[in-house]
Amino acid sequence: MELREYHCRNCGKLLCKGCLTSKENALEVKCRKCHEIQFFQGPDAEIIKKRSVLIKKGIIPDPEVD
Ligand SMILES: [Zn+2]
Repeated sequence: MELREYHCRNCGKLLCKGCLTSKENALEVKCRKCHEIQFFQGPDAEIIKKRSVLIKKGIIPDPEVD
C-alpha cells in the first residue's frame, strides 16, 4: 500500500500521509500552521472545501441531526 501525502492547499504544509481507497473515504485535518480545516476525499485525494459537501453526500454524519 502506498501512502499519499496530503498537503494544505492554503500554505502547502504536509498535513498527513494516508491512503483513501474508495470514494466513500474522507479525511478531515486541521492545518497546524494556518489553522485551516481541510477535507480530502477518495483515491484521487480530491480536496473538499466544505464540510457541508461531505454531509450532503452522506460520507460524514450531520452533527445537527441526531
Ligand atoms: Zn495550512
